[in-house]
Amino acid sequence: MKLLEMNHIKKAFNGVQVIKDISLSVEKGEILAIIGPSGSGKSTLLRCATMLETIDDGEIQYLGRRAAWVEGGKPVFPKKEERKEIQSYFGLVFQNFNLFPHFSVMKNITDAPLKVQRRGKEEVFEEARRLLKKMGLEDKENAYPYQLSGGQQQRVSIARALMMHPNILFFDEPTSALDPELTGEILKVIKDLAAEHMTMVIVTHEMSFARKVADHIIFMDKGVIAEEGTPEDVFGSKNERIREFLGKLT
Ligand code: ADP
Ligand code: MG
Repeated sequence: MKLLEMNHIKKAFNGVQVIKDISLSVEKGEILAIIGPSGSGKSTLLRCATMLETIDDGEIQYLGRRAAWVEGGKPVFPKKEERKEIQSYFGLVFQNFNLFPHFSVMKNITDAPLKVQRRGKEEVFEEARRLLKKMGLEDKENAYPYQLSGGQQQRVSIARALMMHPNILFFDEPTSALDPELTGEILKVIKDLAAEHMTMVIVTHEMSFARKVADHIIFMDKGVIAEEGTPEDVFGSKNERIREFLGKLT
């Protein structure tokens, strides 16, 4: 079952093509890793996929429902109710955690389930405590983000996304703002989610992680998919740009 489909997506900023006709799809349970040099358009692609940016051409669908498209040359999103429903299909974890600084950990992760999803307080708090425990944060529910390490903040933001029960979880370089010793704890959380068959799209610079965890890897270069396939395909590719990119990292 295809959860996400992006067909012939194009996106420019100030006349510069940043995404040049990209198509991809994500099956239920699949883990897609997106790799590539800085500035190749990875974040923009995720922002388009998650309706944070409009697209200039093409179409995006979640479970066969249109999330973004173009009509008469103009970008279109669905109307409010439909849009909200489609937005509830996915969660997004950013590089810089993006927690609400003036909310406690508990409020950060329960606010949207209570206010947006209008779920019952008791059920939401119970799930929140269960998730915090799973993330090793059971003693942090009353802490504020500034009192937490980067790794803890990122675990809270993953918990916040999971509280909404998304069908797909997107990560944009979830470990790049972290010290190396904190990176492992986040990669472990993502590996655990993979073991639970969570569908994920992960932009990452962690090559050995991508190689181990991903079912499919896309290598982006200058706004196009320069190579894609299984980890073996991509890491074994003769493509010069990939060899150069992987060589620089090792
Ligand atoms: P990556 O995540 O692969 O490093 P990005 O998607 O962040 O790449 O950026 C791709 C290109 O698009 C870069 O040249 C960047 O400067 C440009 N870009 C991204 N967002 C904007 C924006 N909001 N306005 C103008 N240019 C942007
Ligand atoms: Mg980026």
